[in-house]
Amino acid sequence: MSADPVRNDPVSTNATSTNAASADAADPEAAARTRFEPPMGAESGPFWEATREGRLLVQWCTACDRGLFYPRTLCPHCGAPGPLEWREASGRAIVHAAVVEHRPELAGAAFAQGKPFCIALVDLEEGVRMMTNVVGCPPGDVTIGMAVTVTWEPLSDGRQLALFGPAGPAGPAREDADPS
Ligand SMILES: [Zn+2]
Repeated sequence: MSADPVRNDPVSTNATSTNAASADAADPEAAARTRFEPPMGAESGPFWEATREGRLLVQWCTACDRGLFYPRTLCPHCGAPGPLEWREASGRAIVHAAVVEHRPELAGAAFAQGKPFCIALVDLEEGVRMMTNVVGCPPGDVTIGMAVTVTWEPLSDGRQLALFGPAGPAGPAREDADPS
């Protein structure tokens, strides 16, 4: 991904929004949303349905015993068509890379309440990398190697977006947090 926050290529910030501005012009409902809502396809259906219950699923190749993300029909590691199955992830991850978007208006007028936000690549314990936003701390405080845990942002149709926040006491409050 682009590491240059000044360039503001909207494609490089697609964890948050792609062409939100053009969609807003034609769709007043879309304009009222604060965030681009990803479509749900055939491969990603189980992933999105599980988010309704706050469960983070990772697709798993039973041929080579490795996880994969994003969802697809062929394993990118070994090329086998599977069988691919779904496994629930722990929600624990480490930040691989992070940038701060200083112009949230480019992701939609109301996005991030107009404040800078963090776009990150995080490595899940299960060995897959996801693009996401890190929330629950100042965006400039997100560092490479930082431990984070999943937290959920509701979408308009009942699905939820998997975001991540600092792990531990400073992290976002979670009812199911492990007290240990
Ligand atoms: Zn495989």
